[in-house]
Amino acid sequence: MSPIDTSIGPDRARELFRAELADVRTDAELQALRMRWVGRKGSWVAAFMEALATATPEQKKAFGRGANELKNEVEAAITEREAALAATRQPANAVDITLPGRRPAFGHRHPLSLIRDEVGAIFTRLGYQVLEGPEIEDDYHNFEALNMPEEHPARDMQDTLYLAEPLRIGAGQPLTLLRTHTSAMQIRHMEQHAPPVRLVAIGPVYRKDNLDLTHTPMFHQVEGLVVGKGVTLADLKGTLAAMAEALFGTGIGIRFRPSFFPYTEPSAEVDIQCIKCKGSGCSMCKRTGWIEILGSGMVHPAVFEAVGYDPNEVTGFAFGMGVERVALLKWGAEDIRLFYENDLRFLEQFGL
Ligand SMILES: [Zn+2]
Repeated sequence: MSPIDTSIGPDRARELFRAELADVRTDAELQALRMRWVGRKGSWVAAFMEALATATPEQKKAFGRGANELKNEVEAAITEREAALAATRQPANAVDITLPGRRPAFGHRHPLSLIRDEVGAIFTRLGYQVLEGPEIEDDYHNFEALNMPEEHPARDMQDTLYLAEPLRIGAGQPLTLLRTHTSAMQIRHMEQHAPPVRLVAIGPVYRKDNLDLTHTPMFHQVEGLVVGKGVTLADLKGTLAAMAEALFGTGIGIRFRPSFFPYTEPSAEVDIQCIKCKGSGCSMCKRTGWIEILGSGMVHPAVFEAVGYDPNEVTGFAFGMGVERVALLKWGAEDIRLFYENDLRFLEQFGL
């Protein structure tokens, strides 16, 4: 940078300025250039103005126009370069596209959701409708229509959670309880639809249970219902065998044990062959080779009468299975509470 010397004249000064401008790369350099050329004090333009003030008329003639042109050019050129620099400057929050990518943290599907969806998919393939239904129920749909009238001893089998205040919605019965089983949904569906019926209802149910290794006050049920002309116990057995194979692997055996439920007759508990020892006996199956998995039976005629079906015309089967129970067996877990404690070390073991 040459020292400021107005004796070289405005034209030569303009050449100097152009040369200096060509070297400017940053905002700071541009600001320094601005000060040096058009600053109020000690700049080239200020020096020319001072020189003009004391110049002779001839000198004014020679320098005056040139000095003004110099000032205009310097200001215009600096403004232009300022805009050019701003256009290439990165904003403060700019993304540096040269950095390596950060892998987003993927969530995991909850193991109970996986089982629920798997069971839903199995029955969808078999031509079933998958329903959910309300979790708050009235007494009629949860008990009475399922052949459990008031004072029926079977009601003692399920410790029910009642609402503090009954909920009244529409013209129906007041809603008084949290459903104790998804069977209530069977009734709701049959009330609205003529046979044939082929559905599974999947969702949370509630019982007054204390939390322990195998019980939670809220758990999930899969309930199946098939109604039509000539539906038999053989259809039930075939369906459950197909489900067991789809869930636990080809060749898994099932067996029926007589049991009692108010809404089915005859009723059966269903066992699957122990998935750990394949039937030879181990600690998981308490040396029996079998593991209880669900309850089932042929729909009781009283249930058909409650929904307006003719028990002489149609027959049907129903079954109910715990989603948590399936999850425990399938993954060899021993404590049902693991599904509700949200411990990521447990949950992250399951698929996406
Ligand atoms: Zn076993």
